Amino acid sequence: MKMYEKAPAKINLMLDVLHKRPDGFHEVEMIMTMVDLADRLEMSELRRDTIIISSQAGYIPLDEKNLAFQAAKLLKERYGVKQGVHIHLDKKIPVAAGLAGGSSDAAAALRGLNRLWQLGLSSEELQELGAELGSDVPFCVTGGTALATGRGEKLTPIASMPQCWVVLAKPPINVSTAEVYGKLRADRIAVHPSARLMQEAVEAGDFQAVCGRLGNVLEEVTLKLHPEVQQLKEAMIRLGADGVLMSGSGPTVFGLVSKQSKVARIYNGLRGFCKEVYAVRSLT
Ligand code: ATP
Repeated sequence: MKMYEKAPAKINLMLDVLHKRPDGFHEVEMIMTMVDLADRLEMSELRRDTIIISSQAGYIPLDEKNLAFQAAKLLKERYGVKQGVHIHLDKKIPVAAGLAGGSSDAAAALRGLNRLWQLGLSSEELQELGAELGSDVPFCVTGGTALATGRGEKLTPIASMPQCWVVLAKPPINVSTAEVYGKLRADRIAVHPSARLMQEAVEAGDFQAVCGRLGNVLEEVTLKLHPEVQQLKEAMIRLGADGVLMSGSGPTVFGLVSKQSKVARIYNGLRGFCKEVYAVRSLT
């Protein structure tokens, strides 16, 4: 038997860091939503008690470091599953981009294997398992638009993000999430974006207010390390995006665009100096 799951990319409409906790994690407030740029997982049952990961993308780990592998292993161990599985990852989300591609693959594996192995787990149970794999995995289990607190695993679903186009551009640099959080001085953040104001804008379906209230405190760190991310932001604004922000710890920058007529201009303008550009819809 085979199961298929889509694993969409996430973007942060706002990301604030409140303080560093004694356990080393940062206490965050984020509003996250998903966009229609997705990996696709094909999960095939194996009689042998083994987990195999394959992918056309040559630049991700295919062993136990892969988050989809870890999701399968966690379910097998926790629920005594004796069957094996071959998970093929058709990667479309750029890797190490701030778009939670690995986390979304892990969440999709949890959803798909729950069906393949008929485990009967609820979304809440899958989210709890997901929290053991990574802070963004619980959100990726259900998607939608949500306020995330704690280290990102405590979720409050909110209304859907107003429908729009999202243009994403990833400059050809690697950003380490750990390095960005490591360099952030949580006690010296100049301007904290407001989760409450962003939530109100989303709940009111007010696209312009969403654009005006975008904010990510990690930009302070990543933009200093990589000035090209700042240049990309400026280019997107110049080309006419309604709101522009870096996603997660970067380096991907996204632009929210209400009018389809503007999308091609922004996309083509960015392709001039960035190879990885995507124009997709927001997901409700
Ligand atoms: P984060 O912000 O959580 O670091 P990200 O969106 O910036 O995530 P990912 O695409 O999730 O980045 O990749 C981060 C790292 O995770 C990569 O360097 C890669 O080696 C590893 N990884 C493990 N499993 C996967 C997967 N299924 N897809 C992509 N990367 C994976």
